[in-house]
Amino acid sequence: MNQTILSSDLIQQWIEDEFDEIVELRKTLHKYPEIGFDLHKTSQIVKNFLNNCGIEVQSGYAKTGVVGILKGGKEGPVIGLRADMDALPIKECTGVDFASQHEQAMHACGHDMHMAMLLGAAKILSKYKDHIAGTIKFIFQPAEEMLAGAKYMIQDGALTNPNVDYIYGFHVWPDLPIGKIGFKSGPLMASMDTFEVALTGQAGHGAAPHQGIDAIVGSANIIASLQSVISREIDPVDSAVITIGKLEAGNAFNIIPEKAVFKGTVRTLSDKTRKDIQKKFLRIIYGMSSALRLEADIIYNFGYPVTNNTKQYVLHAQQLAEALFGSDAVEILEKPSMASEDFAYYLEHVPGAFLFLGVGDDEGGSYKLHHEKFLPNAEAMKFGIALYIALATTPFIKK
Ligand SMILES: [Zn+2]
Ligand SMILES: [Zn+2]
Repeated sequence: MNQTILSSDLIQQWIEDEFDEIVELRKTLHKYPEIGFDLHKTSQIVKNFLNNCGIEVQSGYAKTGVVGILKGGKEGPVIGLRADMDALPIKECTGVDFASQHEQAMHACGHDMHMAMLLGAAKILSKYKDHIAGTIKFIFQPAEEMLAGAKYMIQDGALTNPNVDYIYGFHVWPDLPIGKIGFKSGPLMASMDTFEVALTGQAGHGAAPHQGIDAIVGSANIIASLQSVISREIDPVDSAVITIGKLEAGNAFNIIPEKAVFKGTVRTLSDKTRKDIQKKFLRIIYGMSSALRLEADIIYNFGYPVTNNTKQYVLHAQQLAEALFGSDAVEILEKPSMASEDFAYYLEHVPGAFLFLGVGDDEGGSYKLHHEKFLPNAEAMKFGIALYIALATTPFIKK
């Protein structure tokens, strides 16, 4: 690294000075979870906090998204730092005094911590902005869970004016212990596409199959054959998944149903495989349904792209993490996750990296993401905030 990095002790002291407030902020955000794009209260808390730090606040992104802009004392790149803000439709079962006050909503994916970390870093950076070379864009987005909030943030200009040169984001990760940060170049998380298939045959009496066209037998054959796309048509070292998560057909034990409907998801780790699978999927369903005298209606939606980390930016963050916490904190991930993340959309426009922040412990951080008892320890946030501050004060320089 050809730049001075702020000392780890100094950054940790800055965090210590603000940490009680950041923990309280996390509790407040946790207490009032909101879902999808309708994050009015959450968005207001974020805006007020940034305003109080003297950071320029922009809204009008993806309904309730917020962008904060902080210019540093020196020239440098525009760095995007992103936190997602939405919760899940889950009834919380943690039993803590700051548990969700909303009946069917819970921050069970740690987005409360993502916001608190980024707001904490924003406050500290606003106090010491002379150390920033360039401009920091704090990007707070709604609707990460299934609704592609990131796509709408980008459409509404979150990456432009000023144009973001590169971007970072974290996700709390229960599979890594507190104090570790997971790094991986290239594909980190899978693409996520969805489909719904309706097969129509002809109803008939259960005792006279020859007089009807059985949608259940047809769908069973088609579903079994779809799995052969993965096992027989995709390179075995290139991971992909087809899962059918819902199948509906029939009403009675002695009636051949006219219709069967199934839904599912496709996950891949490359854009090429993603498009290949869609073609093979359509070929099998149209081919087999015609052979089985069924009519097929297919809805196939391309959802989140592959989250593809840029190598140099992964290495940059990794070097900073090493300088801050020592090499033990760095976990090089060998395998990607087949889960998905809409941070992928930002990485289609600008380089950058998505990192996994360890929150695993023997308590609330040991549950998996989306679990009704998932509640990481606030201490884990210190690592995320420190890395945000290092990223903001030590820009990546192209060699
Ligand atoms: Zn989630
Ligand atoms: Zn999440």
